[in-house]
Order: sequence, then structure tokens, then C-alpha cells
Amino acid sequence: MRKTWTMEERLRGQNQRAKQAGARHDLTMEQWLETLEYFNHRCAYCGGKYEVIEHYLPVHKAGTTVSNCIPACSRCNASKDAKNHNLSFYQNERVLAFIESKGVKIAFHFHDYKAIREDYVILYCEGCGSRLHAPGLAIEDAKDYIAEFFKNTGFAHEV
Ligand SMILES: [Zn+2]
Ligand SMILES: [Zn+2]
Repeated sequence: MRKTWTMEERLRGQNQRAKQAGARHDLTMEQWLETLEYFNHRCAYCGGKYEVIEHYLPVHKAGTTVSNCIPACSRCNASKDAKNHNLSFYQNERVLAFIESKGVKIAFHFHDYKAIREDYVILYCEGCGSRLHAPGLAIEDAKDYIAEFFKNTGFAHEV
């Protein structure tokens, strides 16, 4: 049988996670209840069912704090980071407005991948040094491949 976690346990668990990652961990119950109120107890991204406490930026980077935690459905939570950091979730206006209301500004880095040939093709972003190995990809197909699969990818960060 699945245990039903209380809100206190969930919050403590998420603060504990951030602590173990060496990040800030000071989200209070009062703050979290206000955040739920702000998003009408719905998923901050799609307006669906609130199921999990979601970290907007990775927990090891921005911690469990009032500016980094928002309610999400499991689906949005899982798909947000699954697709090579497609930034469309990160650019959600409601979410950004909330984070800004907590005094944090977010900027975006968009990868600008170029294909280079080593033993096989590697997609390389000069801006941040990100390298994606693409064995099996022919260098002459790389441009179309990048346009199709890696548009709007990159990362979000605090400024
Ligand atoms: Zn959702
Ligand atoms: Zn990059």
C-alpha cells in the first residue's frame, strides 16, 4: 500500500534533499501555503492537478526555497527536464512572474549547437561548452537534426 505523505513530511523531505545537496533549504510551511494559494492549488505550468513540489531550477543549484518551489502535476514535473532541457517549461510566464515576485530574476542561455567531427559527430555549443555525442549521425545531416530536435534547448539560471 502506498503511504500518503502529509504536507509537513513532503516539505521536510524536500528541505532535507536540498540540505544533502549543499543548497539552501529554508522553505517554510507558511510560504508554501501562500505559494499554493498563488497558483490556486493547481499545477503552476498547465493548471492541472497539483501532485508534487517541483523545483524550478535543479535542487542542487537553487535549493528548496520560496523562489524555487512551485506546485506541479507529475506529468509536467517529469517532462520538464526529459527533453534535453527544452526551455518552454522554464519560460512559462506565470511561473516567471511568481519567481520575480520573490525577488529572483531568471535569464536563459539558448544552446547554439554546431556539429564537429571527432571519432563521430559531436554537437558543440561554443557559448557554454556543452557537448552532445551523436554517434550514427552523418555530419551532412547534422544541421537538419539540430533544427528538428534541439531548437529552444539550453538552460535557465538566476541573475
Ligand atoms: Zn502540469
Ligand atoms: Zn550552450
